[in-house]
Amino acid sequence: MSTATLPSPHAVKRPAVKDQLLFIGGQFVSGSSGKTFPAIDPATGDTLCQVHEADRNDVNRAVRAARQALEAGPWKQMDAADRGRLMFKLADLVERDAEELAALESLNSGKTITDSRGDLQGVVNTLRYYAGWADKIEGRTVPVRGNFLSYTLRQPVGVVGQIIPWNFPLLMLAWKWGPALACGNTVVMKLAEQTPLTGMRVAELARTAGFPDGVINVLNGLGETTGAALVAHPDVDKIAFTGHYETAKIIQKSAADTLKRCTFELGGKSPNVIFADCDLDKAVDGAHHAIYFHGGQCCTAGSRLFVEEKIHKEFVDRLAAKAKTRKVGNPLDGATEQGPQVSQEQMDKILGYVDLGQKQGAKLVTGGRRVGDKGFFVEPTVFDGVRDDMAIARDEIFGPVVSVLPFTGVDEVIGRANNTYYGLAAAVWTKDIDKAHLFAREAKAGTVWVNCYHVVDTTTPFGGFKMSGQGRENGEAALDHYTETKTVTVKLG
Ligand code: ADP
Repeated sequence: MSTATLPSPHAVKRPAVKDQLLFIGGQFVSGSSGKTFPAIDPATGDTLCQVHEADRNDVNRAVRAARQALEAGPWKQMDAADRGRLMFKLADLVERDAEELAALESLNSGKTITDSRGDLQGVVNTLRYYAGWADKIEGRTVPVRGNFLSYTLRQPVGVVGQIIPWNFPLLMLAWKWGPALACGNTVVMKLAEQTPLTGMRVAELARTAGFPDGVINVLNGLGETTGAALVAHPDVDKIAFTGHYETAKIIQKSAADTLKRCTFELGGKSPNVIFADCDLDKAVDGAHHAIYFHGGQCCTAGSRLFVEEKIHKEFVDRLAAKAKTRKVGNPLDGATEQGPQVSQEQMDKILGYVDLGQKQGAKLVTGGRRVGDKGFFVEPTVFDGVRDDMAIARDEIFGPVVSVLPFTGVDEVIGRANNTYYGLAAAVWTKDIDKAHLFAREAKAGTVWVNCYHVVDTTTPFGGFKMSGQGRENGEAALDHYTETKTVTVKLG
């Protein structure tokens, strides 16, 4: 296993970083309190730059700018097709600067340059997909009783507060801007405090693309201050949030005071079910990808790995052997497969779960340690002999730690897979079409994968059952959450 310190000819150039401001009403401005916090390089633990923290005044300014742009500016008058053209333009600019943005994303979040390039493609796809929707959001004529004409209009919800996490900084931005802008809303987005760099750079591109001032506002700041002020603001009509379910509970309670619309995309403890009749090579690769993609910092991570008893031993041996070969190291190196975890806090949390797993009697097959002594790297880890009631099988660890849970029957595994308060994703590996579709129907999850994992496309709805969320992002489904439906009835003759 390589470490963060190995030099490599494959590494991309480390991008230059400047201190981060706020983007309000089309201008980059300082925070009014003058307070800043550091952005950290997770590969070294060093400070990358200082970040201005938006306080309540700045949130007020951003919401005012967004309200003004919604009610009075050119955005309101603009043809829907022209909104779409601006979004296409932004997608083109992101595509033009994709390599620079990918390097910045990797430097700030620790995701590998390969993964960042994939994310950038997803950002471009998402912006283009929703740009295409802008002039296709239609109402209906409704055959009402009596001599009336009734039709529906779909209008923007209004000023939308959007709060995103650090694991897919730009992709989450695109998932939220895409449908919001296509439907004609205006946006105040709070970036994650760990990953402020790329969102601000894309705000600059939005200005270049020609979005009218105030349509897009981007804030930096902490959750308990900036985020909370945005949620509580009486002139914000909707909150779209991605993050931890404990944060979503706080947000929902606060948003209740003004009865804001809320959509949530939260965590998961996703079951990945391997039947003995699967294609074993593909299933081992799939299980590896399911848990270790982006160091397990993925709300859909396949962290509960159910393996049919008949192949359990062979599967665990092969999974562990593959985990040992994973290249952990410098995220800017094209040969790296896994970068650092995003922060000291996350690394400590993961290592804490590794300890707890062993204390509760699970068998540590491989991994479980920090890699090197600089940055926040963690070994790909496999636990076997895990029971469903252990903490490592129940809690979202958000790290490269998989719990293997043997099973014997179809009904048994469906019941156990669903025995969680989460419901974001589930996967099944089998060549038996009956088992595959039975599992797909019975799994209590917003996404089910058959013989694949982490296949998420901007065209398909994404979101959670149970405590994994409310509402759907991506696809046509997201548009419902960014429009209000108005009925207009006209007396005829
Ligand atoms: P994570 O564990 O991924 O950091 P969080 O839910 O803590 O998940 O953070 C996701 C986003 O929510 C971040 O942008 C964070 O600043 C924001 N956030 C955290 N606490 C609050 C809060 N009380 N109100 C609003 N936003 C918050």
